[in-house]
Parts: sequence; C-alpha cells; structure tokens
Amino acid sequence: MVRYCKTCLMPDTRPRIEFDDGGICNACHTAERKKEIDWDSRRREFLDLVEKHRAAEGPYDCVVPWSGGKDSSTIAHRLKFEFGLNPLLVTFSPLMPDEVAGHNREALISEGFDHLMVRANQKVSRRLSKRFFIERGDPKIHWNAGINSVPVRAAVNYNIPLIFYAEHGESEYGGRTLSEDHMKMRDFAEVLEHQIGDDPVNWMDGEIEEKDLAPYVYPNQDEIEAVGVKALYFGYFFRWSMLDNWNYIKDKIDFRTEPNGRTDGTFTDFDSLDDKIDNLYYHMQFIKFGFGRCIRDTCRMIQNGQMTRVEGLELVRKYDDEFPKSHHQEHLEYLDLGEAEFSETIDKHRDPQIWERQGNQWVLRHPPE
Ligand SMILES: [Zn+2]
Repeated sequence: MVRYCKTCLMPDTRPRIEFDDGGICNACHTAERKKEIDWDSRRREFLDLVEKHRAAEGPYDCVVPWSGGKDSSTIAHRLKFEFGLNPLLVTFSPLMPDEVAGHNREALISEGFDHLMVRANQKVSRRLSKRFFIERGDPKIHWNAGINSVPVRAAVNYNIPLIFYAEHGESEYGGRTLSEDHMKMRDFAEVLEHQIGDDPVNWMDGEIEEKDLAPYVYPNQDEIEAVGVKALYFGYFFRWSMLDNWNYIKDKIDFRTEPNGRTDGTFTDFDSLDDKIDNLYYHMQFIKFGFGRCIRDTCRMIQNGQMTRVEGLELVRKYDDEFPKSHHQEHLEYLDLGEAEFSETIDKHRDPQIWERQGNQWVLRHPPE
C-alpha cells in the first residue's frame, strides 16, 4: 500500500522519507519548523561568517556550484551584488545541454562573473549513461558523482576554502537528516561514505580506464583539509523557495523559460532546464518510486504555502504520468538505444508494488488521492 503525505503529495515510496503516525512526511515537518526560524539572526550569522571568509588570499571568496538555473543563479547574484563577494562559478556540464540554459548562463556571466566549466569525455559519459539507465533506471549516476566532485576539486585546486551549495535536499524534500548542523554545513565525510558503495573506479570496463573517470573522483579528505574547504547551504541562512528564486532572478537577467510553455511531466516552465535528459530522469523516478516531476514541484510549493493540496492534486493527475516526449529522439540517440530496448528498460524498472498491468496498460496501484 502506497501512502501519500496528508499535507503535501509525496508518497512514502520516496527513498529515505519518514512519515509520522498521522501520515505527515518529514519534509512537511521541516517546512513547519522553518516558520519558527529567526531569519534575522540567521542573516547575522551569515554576515559574520562571510566577513571571516572574505578572500584572505587569492581573487575568489567562494565557489558556487552553478547550473545556470534560477536557484544557483539567484545565490550567485545575491552573493556578488548584495553581499559584495567575488564567487567563482563552477559548472559540471549537463549530459545533454539545453540551449535555453546556455542562454541563461551567458546572461548571468555577462553581469561580471568568472566561470569554470568541466565537460567530461562524452564517449565515456554516454557509455556510462546507457549502462546506468539499463541497470539502475537512472542515466545520471555518474553525473551525480561529477556534480559532487567538481566544485570541491575546484575549491581545492584554486585554494578557495568556502563553497555555497543551495539547499540541504534531505531535509527540504524528505530524507534523512542526521542533525541540525547537517542542514547548515555539508559533511564531506558523509558524502565520501555515501560514494564508497559507488566508487567510480568500479565503473572501469573493457573500454573505460581509470584515467577516464577523473572528473567523477572526489578529492580525498587530506586535500580538502589542506585547503580547509567548508561547504555551507545558502538555504540555511535565507528562506528557501524555488518560486521566490525564480521571481528574484527573472527581474535581474534575461532568464528564459521552457519554449514549449511547460516542461514534460509538470506544470512549471522555469525549473531544471539545463539538461535535456532530466525529462527522462524525472520520469524514471515516477517509474521506480511512483512520484514524477509534478509531485516534486507541487510538494515544494505546498510546503512553502504557495499552493493548496487540492490544487496540487489536480495538477498531478494531469501531468505526473506524462511521457518525456520533447527530447525523446535525442534521448534514444544519446543512449544509443532503439525504441524497443528503451521501453523494455522502462518496464523492467517498474516497482510491482507501485504498478500493475491492466489490459495493455500500466497503471498505478494506488494513485495519489
Ligand atoms: Zn509532506
């Protein structure tokens, strides 16, 4: 039996989420607790911290892991123009870069930022995407390692001891939160530990050698400590809301949105636009865990008081199961798969507790209600 949170719409099939006896998820409890936070005191804490870090040496005060999307662009813009810091923007390239996001990145860079981008060997990347899509139903496993490692590698190499991440995903969206401190500062030991099970070195095969995997390998603890790299979550110091970030950045730069008017599988047109493969990635979450991109977006807005659960449910019924059609041919090409193998792979990853076959259709056993 799949249960949906009574406050938002997240199912209990989301990995690591916890529900209380009343059927409310821990992300909703985090959102509730955020109403009690003294944001003025958090802001003072932030200003103290920033003063301590204002480039003792070298040109950069901090690294901002930057996709060019509304969230990381808002952070970069505020750090530079509201707080007078000089951030180095660091991007681990999307697998299938989208032109709109390329335009948006250029729009922010031209406001006066330095930008470092790492685009990993695409022969290797495509091979890994195909393998991970088939084996794990997730074409972005290696990308996830890269997005974790590259900003820290840049901090180590450029001797920049401060990194600003966006939000602590586990507490914001439902997952495991070890302590209050984990919501403020990224625990590198924890990140390393999580990656040991998926050490990139294990991805070597007849064609992929160890040196091909360099972009995915995390700096070791000694390198991190030698520079004294600390990574903080911006969302700990300032109220975090994807809608507010969008409203902020669209007034500052020529930020373009999804040309089709909305992204596959959801009602928004302004979120997660940088990688064409994301449409497939979110659809695979729907296949594996029973929540798609629309549930993801509505939950965020419900928790921030920007939408009611009834409004969210209506959108979810309309969009959550939508097939990622916009870039479908490009997905097939990128993954080097034919139509048949592609749909077989999708069906192979359907969790039987979530899905059942009715006639020639797959339906959710327990649709959101
Ligand atoms: Zn909830």
